[in-house]
Amino acid sequence: MGTRVINFYDNFKCLASECPNTCCRGWKISIDDKTVSNYKSEGGKEGIRLFLTTTFGKNKEVRKFFGRCANETRDGLCRLELQGRKDLMPEVCRIYPRRSIQIGEDKEVTFELSCPMTARLFLDNLDDLYLKEYKGENIDPVWIQDMFNENYYNDILAVRDKVVDYINKDISLPKVLSDLYHYFKRLYRHVLSQDIDIKTMPIFDNSHEEKNYSYSFYSMSLIDKVIMNDLSDGRFRSQDALYDFSRKYNRIFGQMTVGEADYYFDKKCKKMVEKYPELHKKYKAYLIYYMYQILYSSYESVTFYKEYLLGVVYLSILMLTDVVDYINGMDLEDKDRQVNNLNNCEKRLRHNVSIKKRISHRLDEEFTKENEGYKF
Ligand code: SF4
Repeated sequence: MGTRVINFYDNFKCLASECPNTCCRGWKISIDDKTVSNYKSEGGKEGIRLFLTTTFGKNKEVRKFFGRCANETRDGLCRLELQGRKDLMPEVCRIYPRRSIQIGEDKEVTFELSCPMTARLFLDNLDDLYLKEYKGENIDPVWIQDMFNENYYNDILAVRDKVVDYINKDISLPKVLSDLYHYFKRLYRHVLSQDIDIKTMPIFDNSHEEKNYSYSFYSMSLIDKVIMNDLSDGRFRSQDALYDFSRKYNRIFGQMTVGEADYYFDKKCKKMVEKYPELHKKYKAYLIYYMYQILYSSYESVTFYKEYLLGVVYLSILMLTDVVDYINGMDLEDKDRQVNNLNNCEKRLRHNVSIKKRISHRLDEEFTKENEGYKF
């Protein structure tokens, strides 16, 4: 019982005005009920200002002016924070980039990698990612899981340890992706039917099948639609770092058939990872980090399986950003570029609710239904 934080938690320091991709831009900033009520009781000039910078309607948001938060100063800082008025900052702004979840008496805090500073800390700690006990100042939970069942909770933690150990084994990434896919599919069914002790369920190692695993876990037809349709909506503008990626991607893959694209992606990935073994480590670390986050946050809804499939889409696109850079002769050891690709992928894909919904829908229609003959 207590608080656990990701091992590099204490190293975080907001880049503030030096931030190249500030969290004050490019997001919808929702205002939680408690902060809305603080706005209402705030009188004077500040009260009027807050009223004018809040959207109408039931679900309140901070208004944006030319894509910038109404409370952002010319120096790119938050004026409410500068004035020491944390009580007037929406909860999401006070806590971001922390991701804090409470289950029962336990709290876990990791970071969203959509922040350039946390993306860098993640890349600096690929070798050793773990959660550690934390005795520092209180961190408010953003999510509180109301349902608590001690046995089930301990099962989920045991499952997570098992999955993390498995990813850490000396096994290729394509094989890990395939084995975990089958594992999560079975896990989901057994959690629903409650017919076995899920802790004891093994992750099958199918190596005896001598299957030739491919980096193309998903067909490129699905990944292509995410890049060219879901990311290319009205908000996909030239200042978005993934815009450059999507143009280069289209020049390489745009004229290929699906079969050619799958083969080409797999072949280039293998060569790239051979040349830059650090990338293999990065992809596995991304998966481990993702597991630390989703197995805890999907506790109530038992949607591990669906969340896993989503994670593999994010990972595939992250890999594709590297493949496109590799084909274009870019330096894949350039840390700034790695940070930029990672934090933009997270911001544009994982933390954009409408894009996440669209990807989920595609997975239902084009992967789950096709591979398993039913809709999830
Ligand atoms: S994105 Fe991260 S480093 Fe940049 S302003 Fe926000 S919290 Fe600070």
